[in-house]
Amino acid sequence: MVKETIFSSIIKHVIPADILYQDELVTAFRDILPKAPIHILIVPNILIPNVNEIKYKHEKTFGRMFTVAAKIAKQENIHEQGYRLIINCNKHGGQEIPHVHMHLLGGIQLGPIL
Ligand code: 5GP
Repeated sequence: MVKETIFSSIIKHVIPADILYQDELVTAFRDILPKAPIHILIVPNILIPNVNEIKYKHEKTFGRMFTVAAKIAKQENIHEQGYRLIINCNKHGGQEIPHVHMHLLGGIQLGPIL
């Protein structure tokens, strides 16, 4: 049994967040501790703890995460200058919240990944 995280509460509107987009598959909201001028999290509505747990049946959801990332980047007007998409996995990847999520970071020249 996987335990729900704060992201499930955000998706269900139980706790507040600055939600920019939501549909039947994904939710996107601003990170509470932004690491760049634009820092948005794009999250599947169903609880998948990390990338290791992604199955073929989830492909539509993960495709949607990318189309929503592109749509939001355009909305935020960072699409031409560019941005970074990151998905952390488990301890070595730096994942803190065990509900898989994509970070969209931009609005500044980002440094090297490591
Ligand atoms: P991770 O390290 O798991 O890849 O990233 C988790 C992200 O979730 C962090 O950037 C952190 O700031 C963000 N975060 C943690 N708790 C909350 C919250 O309650 N609300 C929002 N909007 N972001 C959160």
